[in-house]
Amino acid sequence: MKTLPFTNQDQMPAIGLGTWKSKPGEVRDAVYTAIEAGYRHIDCAPIYGNEKEVGEGISKAIADGHAKREELWVTSKLWNSAHRRNAVLPALQQTLADLGLEYLDLYLIHWPVAHKDGVVNPASGNDFLSLEQLPISETWEGMEEAAGQGLARHIGVSNFHLGRVQELVNGSRIPPEMNQVELHPFLPQQQLLEGCRKLGVHLTAYSPLGSGDRATGMKAADEPSLLSHTLVKEIAEMRGATPGQVLIQWAVQRGTAVIPKSVNPGRIRENLAAAQVGLQPEDVKLLDQIGQAYRFIDGTFWTREGSPYTLKDLWGE
Ligand code: NDP
Repeated sequence: MKTLPFTNQDQMPAIGLGTWKSKPGEVRDAVYTAIEAGYRHIDCAPIYGNEKEVGEGISKAIADGHAKREELWVTSKLWNSAHRRNAVLPALQQTLADLGLEYLDLYLIHWPVAHKDGVVNPASGNDFLSLEQLPISETWEGMEEAAGQGLARHIGVSNFHLGRVQELVNGSRIPPEMNQVELHPFLPQQQLLEGCRKLGVHLTAYSPLGSGDRATGMKAADEPSLLSHTLVKEIAEMRGATPGQVLIQWAVQRGTAVIPKSVNPGRIRENLAAAQVGLQPEDVKLLDQIGQAYRFIDGTFWTREGSPYTLKDLWGE
């Protein structure tokens, strides 16, 4: 398995298991099956509402001898309702308690968006605080404290555009080491990839298969499908792989981590086996130039009427 190197010599396995929309009653087994099959990287977040079960899957897999804790890479994220400096550590401690872990390998600020105190799910645009009211620099001090106490081995961000990553790298005591963003051939984010690389910040590709129920067919009528795109299917056939594996290996060959979600044992194994798919440089080039642009997680949840956030703030374009 390819890994992403960190400056302290830690190595993050390139392919991990996503857990968003993995339902209670399914996710414990999914995590267990994944670790048993050889995954060593699990991506979590408290807002997915399933960290306790994810933790049960991890504990059982460790107890049954499928992996040791130190061989696993567990990422979680700080939700938007805990951006005040003194709210960061308690949020992380809750996540650790739910996961049944003593430390995280990576802790990320989930979104550059802050909610008013006590608001987990904003009901209206009124429930937000602007970044002038609650700056990222304040939240980052809490993240640095988490790293300083050894509760998170590495810290980073998610859904940050390049300007924001740069600002944080320049203005922080401990710079971010990861930016987790939507990345796939419809949204290759080449500039962000190159810019972050220069800053020493890795990228993790989320929604690599086109996200959630959409990937299994329940997509909005006008939404494009990555898994059934002609080029993806042709390359899959040529290389003896599945469309999902082609998309995963494309991300790995670009030097990013990638976290496909599945609760299906066959697809969990299929996605890990993408590590063995031999994509040729010309395949990667063709996928890079697919010529269709689409963001599945478009950010409109944060920009509804009355919110201080705009799509331009969010994506920097
Ligand atoms: P993905 O792009 O990973 O797609 C998941 C969907 O694809 C599910 O419906 C899954 O169904 C299906 N699927 C999985 N494997 C295959 C396969 N080989 N062939 C066909 N279909 C397949 O979507 P996500 O949006 O979940 O993204 C992945 C992870 O990224 C999340 O789970 C989460 O951990 C993270 N994420 C982070 C975000 C952030 O803001 N930081 C935002 C969005 C995601 P099934 O389970 O039935 O196999």
